[in-house]
Amino acid sequence: MFKLSKKIQDLPPYLFLEIDKAKRKAAAAGRDIIDLGIGDPDQPTPRHIIEALYQASLDPANHRYALDQGMPALRRSIAVWYKERFGVSLNPGSEVLPLIGSKEGLAHFPLAFLNPGDYSLVPDPCYPPYKGGTILAGAKPYSLPLLEENAFLPDLKKIPLSVRKKAKIIFVNYPNNPTSATAEKAFYKELIEFARKNKIIIVSDLAYSEMSYDGYRPASILELEGAREVAIEFHSLSKTYNMTGWRIGWACGNEKLTAVLAKVKSNIDSGIFSAVQLAGIVALSGPQEYVKSMCSLYQERRDCLMEGLGALGWQAHRPKATFYVWIKVPRGKSSLKFSELLLDRANIVVTPGVGFGKYGEGYIRMALTVGKERIKEALERLRKI
Ligand SMILES: *Cc1c(COP(=O)(O)O)cnc(C)c1O
Repeated sequence: MFKLSKKIQDLPPYLFLEIDKAKRKAAAAGRDIIDLGIGDPDQPTPRHIIEALYQASLDPANHRYALDQGMPALRRSIAVWYKERFGVSLNPGSEVLPLIGSKEGLAHFPLAFLNPGDYSLVPDPCYPPYKGGTILAGAKPYSLPLLEENAFLPDLKKIPLSVRKKAKIIFVNYPNNPTSATAEKAFYKELIEFARKNKIIIVSDLAYSEMSYDGYRPASILELEGAREVAIEFHSLSKTYNMTGWRIGWACGNEKLTAVLAKVKSNIDSGIFSAVQLAGIVALSGPQEYVKSMCSLYQERRDCLMEGLGALGWQAHRPKATFYVWIKVPRGKSSLKFSELLLDRANIVVTPGVGFGKYGEGYIRMALTVGKERIKEALERLRKI
């Protein structure tokens, strides 16, 4: 009776749902599961941000519809944060757009530019909303393989001319989920030239800019000359301040691109809860020590996991950023089969690479979102099998 739209039918199957089911089943059976599958910080939101939310929630003025385009004060604090962090000046009135988490912005953005028959260029493996948003806009995602031999950067020279002509958007995400790869300015320079020459919009997802180790500081594409003519960048408070459930992020950069995204959103949502916006201001402009201490915590976990995997003879890249470790599965095993085996025999949940795209096959992703003791326990279980 209910016939699904073509767009819904075209969406890729959501593999993570199946994994979640298997995990719940195992946990319900009383098995002691170590969950390295979720990219969600395990530590709480800093106390002063929660206090700010509480205080703001008491004010009836904040109970009403928020401004679609975000509070001017939030837009200003985003611009100030940007200037301090990247040395880039943004006009808070026209070049900054608060979002209900960056995911909704990334998924809605294609609606503004893609028509049926158009392509978006999406990295493979990738964060799923780039593909989902493209398909829901009636267009087609075209995969750009992220290969180990290219340091998990897309090879722009390999994109055929016929595809360039139909492509309107290219998504990039460094530091990268799921591979944890990083990009240097030379890559962004080449990307900007590619975008200008082919009239393609750059969408840069910088959700992990603050989660980095060993003194490494990821760059924003907007630091580069000419970026503002072709690029929009997406940021999130989710990973930086342990605020995934709060739903707050932003887009910034080219003013036409941010304005059109605002237009799409004004037809869909009614802004971020004002109390969350006020707490967001406190997060961005308040003390930042907590961010550093979170990085030290993840770095310690990373070192523990890398050392253990090394001792087991497993191949994995040491991440300079993000809380993911991208690991090669043993030869001859599919990522899904290997993930199932780890759950069955070691009660460890990991994410199979194929869930992020065809080129994620051959890898699994582990997230550094459990304590060191649990990581050690997981390594001990791996050693036994
Ligand atoms: C977690 C994550 C985000 C953040 O999403 P929010 O909607 O802001 O919570 C964005 N991009 C990537 C690649 C992520 O992994």
